[in-house]
Amino acid sequence: MKEIQKLFPSMDGNDFQREELLSYFKTILTKIDELKDPNKLTLGEMPDYTEDYYNRVIQKANVPNKGVSMEEVIQKLLKLVEGHRYVNRNYVANAAPLPNIASIIGNLVMVLVNGNSLWDVEGQAAATAEIEVTSMLSKLVGYDESISAGYTTWGGQGAVFNSLRLAIARYAPASNQHGIPKNLYCFCSELSHYSLYKSVEATGIGVENMIRVKVNDDHSMNLEDLREKMEQVIAKGGVPLYVLATMGTTDTFGIDDIEGIKQITEDLERTYGINSIYIHADSAMGGMYTFFNDYDFESNPLRFEDRVKDVLKSYQQKFKHIKLADSMVFDFHKLGQTPYISSLFLIKNRENLMYVDLDAAETPYVGNRGYGSYHTGYTLECSRMGSALAIYASLLAFGIEGYQELLANYIRVNIAFRETLTKEITNVMVTNEVSPITTFRFYPEKIKWNDEINGHLTVEEIMEINQFNDEFAEVIGAERDTVFFGNTKKQRLIEAANSNKRISVYAHKFFAISPYTTIEEVDRYVGFLKEHLEFFLKTKSSNNLMLEI
Ligand SMILES: *Cc1c(COP(=O)(O)O)cnc(C)c1O
Repeated sequence: MKEIQKLFPSMDGNDFQREELLSYFKTILTKIDELKDPNKLTLGEMPDYTEDYYNRVIQKANVPNKGVSMEEVIQKLLKLVEGHRYVNRNYVANAAPLPNIASIIGNLVMVLVNGNSLWDVEGQAAATAEIEVTSMLSKLVGYDESISAGYTTWGGQGAVFNSLRLAIARYAPASNQHGIPKNLYCFCSELSHYSLYKSVEATGIGVENMIRVKVNDDHSMNLEDLREKMEQVIAKGGVPLYVLATMGTTDTFGIDDIEGIKQITEDLERTYGINSIYIHADSAMGGMYTFFNDYDFESNPLRFEDRVKDVLKSYQQKFKHIKLADSMVFDFHKLGQTPYISSLFLIKNRENLMYVDLDAAETPYVGNRGYGSYHTGYTLECSRMGSALAIYASLLAFGIEGYQELLANYIRVNIAFRETLTKEITNVMVTNEVSPITTFRFYPEKIKWNDEINGHLTVEEIMEINQFNDEFAEVIGAERDTVFFGNTKKQRLIEAANSNKRISVYAHKFFAISPYTTIEEVDRYVGFLKEHLEFFLKTKSSNNLMLEI
């Protein structure tokens, strides 16, 4: 047993075992640092992902009969890290965070004491941190912290699922016993994340009862279409149960008008005498911008330049209404720069939890005791990781102002990127509003965006431009070790001149997520695109020539 004990941290806090653990940490940090290269995206060389790569992994995998040394364990782990993408200045693809140092330390503490957020007796650090960040962020968004509740969960996806579960249980408290009613309907924008799609599948509501609402040109939900579709549901005897208000769509950062949505639901409730309709703000992408809810743009203490200020001010107008939602989410592992998974699901009124809480008789092992006063029997998870610690540490280290600086920089870089892109390249169109994300679309010859969004092009013409962008995405994707751009095959849907089916628009994506993505880098990003585009156009036209010959 002595040998086995050596695999664990000490019981008495002796220097020797601590030094040993520290030396492992040091090796790992040093080796990873050695692999860093600011001119590349990856840590060292990417493995050769041949077609049988994972098959070979499957065949070789075996639990060793005898445990190997810690040195070998570390070596094997570092082998896995080799070629890993690293979110440095060359990463402009998606909302992938570079965990900040405070969050790394918060996670380390979480692991070292290994609390279970399920019950404070088993995890007091994470439980207190969870209550504390819930209160901090409730105050920030304008929820009353004395009646709100929150818990960390499995991502923005988990928050959507949890919120839908609350909505069902609130509407039909007996559904936990008898199963859910048949006629429930959910509404979301056609550009919303697939989280709701999965949730209506899993709750048994069914995808057919998820109604997609059209979007406006700024990628926010079209409210007339929402009202119309809700009234149609009511007219045929259905129950409008739930609206997902997306606060920052995943690809284009469209922000739904939650105040307008609330007006519609209240109006319908009054007119038709129906139950309160649940609104979840899917703020997985945009929620961090609530950090500007109390920013004074007049005195502008952080001295944001006018162009950045104007965007942030317009966000304030939208995000200050997020408090109207019954629940929302902070996905810190997106724009908040913490490790996966650190997402806080925030509920405006904790009374809603009573509909889903387990009866004490169902929880014989935990919670059901005189000791301990925090037991999250209402979560879908049983044991829960203490990711509130990473969130807590980040909030302390950044403060409101630190996050404001970080979040403003995403905007600043995007404004510069748009300007340089359209100045340097003639056949490109920027296709969304200024935000942490820029979507853009190239054209084989001249820009046809206006014709596209006004329904003047045929399906074939739109598809040809899509194809052009798709091929170019492959070209720059192969060079992603230099700069890694994102792309999407559904930036939005547009009408075509010769079809009543709407067509998806393909676009490229620039996502300024790394703290090392600054305006000084913008020329390099655009230069990369320009150089590859010129080459791509040349090879394409010579291929066409060959075909003609
Ligand atoms: C990313 C995202 C989600 C899913 O969040 P996860 O943390 O990945 O589970 C949900 N909604 C929106 C709008 C998102 O951008």
